[in-house]
Amino acid sequence: MGITIDGKNFAKEIEQRLINEINDFRQEAGRPPGLAVIRVGDDPASGVYVKNKGKACERVGINNFNIHLDSNISENDLKNQIIKLNNDESVDGILLQLPLPLKFDKNHFLNIISPDKDADGLHPLNLGKLIKGDFGPRSCTPAGVLALLKNNHIKIAGKKAVVIGRSILVGRPMAIILESENATVTICHSHTRKLEDETKNADILVVAAGKPDLIDAELVKKNAVVIDVGIHRIPVLNEVTKETTYRLCGDVKFDDVLTKASAITPVPGGVGPMTVSMLLVNTVSLWQSHCGLPSTIRDLLP
Ligand code: NAD
Repeated sequence: MGITIDGKNFAKEIEQRLINEINDFRQEAGRPPGLAVIRVGDDPASGVYVKNKGKACERVGINNFNIHLDSNISENDLKNQIIKLNNDESVDGILLQLPLPLKFDKNHFLNIISPDKDADGLHPLNLGKLIKGDFGPRSCTPAGVLALLKNNHIKIAGKKAVVIGRSILVGRPMAIILESENATVTICHSHTRKLEDETKNADILVVAAGKPDLIDAELVKKNAVVIDVGIHRIPVLNEVTKETTYRLCGDVKFDDVLTKASAITPVPGGVGPMTVSMLLVNTVSLWQSHCGLPSTIRDLLP
């Protein structure tokens, strides 16, 4: 039976460290760190994520500027809103909550965010820095996964890592980060022919396919470390009361895989809280840089 990797408690530890950093340097900086989260439209899941990010900012002492825009906003107005935040000196980090309504090209708007305020690490310049190994804001979810692996003393160098998913948000930066840590990395995606041939060889398996319960114990190597990035809200109908409730699950069948893996992240309570923590880390790191403070939290970023 494997161990459950606790993302919730580690996220709390990181928050405590950020609270201390902000308290120690707020006076010298002359202002607290600031994060602006832009949400366009009314996607309900995005609403929950934005609310959680706002609460996390409050907990650590980051000023949270929540900007909720109507889905009918014009491209020009959205662009001008981002430029306004780029020029606002009280804002250190800007996050454009995805998905955007379909009519918008997300890459166009992500590119308008100043790379110097890119709290999600998705600007091409920062993705380039990631590839080169230069310091910069990092994509929050893969950065959170690496921090979790390190905190649990999981050896990466020399291991075979398999990443399922190749999105710019998760899969690709995850693969680059693991390769930078000297793992031998394979990326799987929707065109991979025999997924099990790859996953069964993985010492470290990161699953970010967005497919509920895709991975069971059969697909996992004995004693592998399994990181479940997926998050799904599945409706469950109560046959008696006819009420619909929801269960949260990931891309991995947790109970099944727990019997074979050496360690596994749960959903919820694994990668999710770490994603939020790394957003705070990116923001505080940008604040330190904007205010000429010492860079004291580099060890938390890959
Ligand atoms: P995405 O849809 O952009 O990418 C999914 C990737 O998985 C694609 O590259 C696709 O080719 C691949 N894929 C899909 N089905 C596959 C299959 N059967 N076999 C192999 N590869 C397959 O999604 P994303 O933005 O990368 O997010 C992935 C999942 O992670 C989603 O469930 C999302 O909600 C979740 N997520 C969670 C967090 C968190 O903080 N926990 C953060 C970001 C995303």
